[in-house]
Amino acid sequence: MTLKKKARSRFVRFLGKQLREDRTTLQIYSRDMADLPSLVSIFFQNIPDGVILASSVKDIQTIYSVANETKTPITQRAAGTAGLGGSITYKKGLVIDTKGFEQHYLVNPLDQTVVVSPSYVFSDLQRKLKLEGFSLCSYPSSYHSATIGGWIAHGGHGIGSAQYGGVLEQIVEIEVVLPTGHLVKYTERDHISLFVGSHGTLGTITEVTLRVKFDIPLKHQGCTFDSPKELIQGLEEIVRIFPYSVWFLNPEHVALFNETFGYNLPIRYVAIISKEVNFEEEELEFSRLFNNAVRNAGGQILDRRYTEDIWQFRFKSFSMLKQCKDFVVSEVILPIEASDKYIRKLVSKFKGNIHLEGEVISPTHYALMMYLLYDEKLSSLKKTLLNLKLFNLTIGSKKVKGTPYSTGLWFSGYYGKIYGKDELRRYKEFKKSVDPKNISNPGKVLSPKLRFLPIVSLKFAVRLASRLIL
Ligand SMILES: Cc1cc2nc3c(=O)[nH]c(=O)nc-3n(C[C@H](O)[C@H](O)[C@H](O)COP(=O)(O)OP(=O)(O)OC[C@H]3O[C@@H](n4cnc5c(N)ncnc54)[C@H](O)[C@@H]3O)c2cc1C
Repeated sequence: MTLKKKARSRFVRFLGKQLREDRTTLQIYSRDMADLPSLVSIFFQNIPDGVILASSVKDIQTIYSVANETKTPITQRAAGTAGLGGSITYKKGLVIDTKGFEQHYLVNPLDQTVVVSPSYVFSDLQRKLKLEGFSLCSYPSSYHSATIGGWIAHGGHGIGSAQYGGVLEQIVEIEVVLPTGHLVKYTERDHISLFVGSHGTLGTITEVTLRVKFDIPLKHQGCTFDSPKELIQGLEEIVRIFPYSVWFLNPEHVALFNETFGYNLPIRYVAIISKEVNFEEEELEFSRLFNNAVRNAGGQILDRRYTEDIWQFRFKSFSMLKQCKDFVVSEVILPIEASDKYIRKLVSKFKGNIHLEGEVISPTHYALMMYLLYDEKLSSLKKTLLNLKLFNLTIGSKKVKGTPYSTGLWFSGYYGKIYGKDELRRYKEFKKSVDPKNISNPGKVLSPKLRFLPIVSLKFAVRLASRLIL
């Protein structure tokens, strides 16, 4: 279904100069960071009818007004770095590119907060904050391209979450244009939490006030472990020393790291631990506690020459993977306790092709990014099978009390598993009240029905397919 004539003429009338409809643009906006096998078009219509480059609150309000009037689905997209299909259209309509949203920035040193536009890229914001002696509390490792708005809507955790929590813990106020067109500001945690992980389904974020921290120097230590069991024991010990960040790679990812950047790290599980340190005594104490923790878990301390360097590479995973092969990606949140079984299973299922990168996000949990590399010559059918296999293993993490990282499109229908049943109920009530026509990013968060078999949900179909085929 292409954009209806009446709808198109309305959008052209109000936002004609910002509307793009050429084939190249539509192709670019038909995917996000992950590779999409061409067979997915059976399930949904990921090539949009058009793309609107929105730059102001007024643009967003106009878009919602015409979208409601003409029942046109709209899908927000910022940098497009999330790989779960959240910024891809499910049933065509318009993509709203929010990356060019007008930018403003205001630090309040007394409150230790910053007011920013959602289109701010993390590295740009951090650069500005550092000039004033402040720093982001936590940020994603897609720091050089991802935006604040996209991270909130994706439900972000990241580097620094071990100490400061995920994005929800940092939002003081959020401004949103609801699908009704109303511009609202929320300061209550109960309201803010609805927008974290909502993938644009409840409205479009137009401004955020974030908590920031003093720019305290970080010291880094590294260690290696022989097996998933040792790694998990190591994480259990290390979280007790209240680190700022704990970031680790599996041996396959370490080998790729060595190959790409010319290092000679041991091909084992490698973890880099960072801690805020104000004084020399604190640094000595950190070293002592760290050495004890690693020793207790049976690991080995990594040569200090490496640790500073590796920390600098924390944003390089994507470029490392990109230059090798194609890949599919998924991410789970796992409890630290007893999750070594799950890692062992992943490694044995995919042999040497699964690359794992973990980040501790709380004293009890970590996020595990899974990249499954494949030969770019692989047929579309085989790519789909790999996607399904990885999907199945992501869902299968529930056996060790894990959940998918976020919903987006691929994991739509898993919101209740991620945030709990009460949050799901609240989400549904709110969605019904602000978007009765379901125009704001339809097909995301709650599982949509298949377009050719509307009694079956996408969640059911994908699960069934992954069980039958694998
Ligand atoms: C190498 C790599 C590392 C990554 N590391 C992390 C990590 O450490 N932690 C993490 O959480 N994620 C990570 N990600 C995933 C992703 O990069 C982040 O979640 C990122 O913050 C998404 O921001 P974006 O601007 O690219 O958003 P997009 O991908 O464009 O959008 C994400 C979602 O937000 C919605 N959206 C975008 N803008 C708005 C808006 N203004 N209002 C409402 N909804 C909106 C979209 O519809 C979509 O559903 C990583 C990705 C890569 C490629």
